[in-house]
Amino acid sequence: MEPSVLVDEKRLQKDFDALRELSKDPEGGVTRLAYTEAETKAHGYVAAEARKIGLTATTDAIGNLYVKLGGGHGRTIRIGSHLDSVNNGGNYDGAVGVLTGLEALRCLAQAKAQLRYPVELVAFRAEESARFNRGCIASEIATGGLKIKEAKAIRDSDGVTLYDAIKKCGYNPDKLEEAKWDKSGIKLFIEPHIEQGRVLEAKKVPVGIVTGIAAPVRHIVNIKGRTDHSGATPMNMRLDAVAAAAEMILAAEATGKEAFNAGKATVATVGMAIVPQGSINKVAGKAALYLDVRDASLTDRNYAEKTVLQRFKEIAKRRGVNVTTEETQRSKPAVTGKEVADVLLRACKKLKAGQMPIVSGAAQDSMHISNYGIPTGMIFVPSRNGISHAPAEFTEMKHIATAAKIVVTAIMDAQQG
Ligand SMILES: [Zn+2]
Repeated sequence: MEPSVLVDEKRLQKDFDALRELSKDPEGGVTRLAYTEAETKAHGYVAAEARKIGLTATTDAIGNLYVKLGGGHGRTIRIGSHLDSVNNGGNYDGAVGVLTGLEALRCLAQAKAQLRYPVELVAFRAEESARFNRGCIASEIATGGLKIKEAKAIRDSDGVTLYDAIKKCGYNPDKLEEAKWDKSGIKLFIEPHIEQGRVLEAKKVPVGIVTGIAAPVRHIVNIKGRTDHSGATPMNMRLDAVAAAAEMILAAEATGKEAFNAGKATVATVGMAIVPQGSINKVAGKAALYLDVRDASLTDRNYAEKTVLQRFKEIAKRRGVNVTTEETQRSKPAVTGKEVADVLLRACKKLKAGQMPIVSGAAQDSMHISNYGIPTGMIFVPSRNGISHAPAEFTEMKHIATAAKIVVTAIMDAQQG
């Protein structure tokens, strides 16, 4: 029997309903912040469901959850994503990858599939930046990129360190390095996820095969002009930091739009602007902008970043204000593996599921896994109206079931290789 025919849309719906019930936020949507009881309960649900099919869930030193099926000695095929959410977030971001993985295990177990390469479901902790202002934490640890020293330094808005939050959940951050994956033992990693954008819905395509994951470069831009009296200072004698900031915000937007018009995926955003000691009766002497430039292509991202920063300098020079920039993050974009993409494409073809190539604009756990050197692929399913990180986040269960079928089919296909 072809195990993918066992994918059960109703059973998947029950899983999503159960997770929603466990972490319903009275103010709307779900709230399952990283390393909180709500996230732990969601992991507990998956562990309990695994037990129902005779499988045992295990956890590593930082609370990531693993459920393995098949005892073959071959390298493991890992499927998964995260279960945490933002405040008042949706019930699909992350959960789609974990629950389709769980459904895949059920189908493979039920079909008594012969697995030369064992299959392992992974539920990562702490993917969202919502609590610690830093995303993809557990997958970064799993790929050796985040150490104990940093875990002790990263804090949430209440001052609780990541290290203490892990400990409070009953895990052992002192052994954080034991959570690192041994890449020689892993054949490939697949992460199904919601698109969080509008492309698939607009094109009426149920599945996106991710070709690359955009990553941000971020700068804090400090503008220094001169504080003056807004009534007593003539218009031609001002060094207005806010007016300069306004021009810079538009220059960043224009750079992104030019890239878009040139057919590129680059996005450039000033998502926050601050006027320290600003007041209605002042010409502002200081302003700070938070710039975020992203692309899955490093060449295109570098070009846009250089262009934006050059334009900021020109604006500052023309206006006689001073501008300095402080780089706060430079993440490496990920190109997902052709090997895994081919397996996923074959699965779509076999299942007659429409698909298209797509770039992930959002960072994903897969970014770290791919950059770590593990063949990685992502499947996107459509987000209604492109909405995500909000209570209105929604994906039709039939599309999620399709993703589960693709996962099962891909796992069976990968058994041949
Ligand atoms: Zn996510």
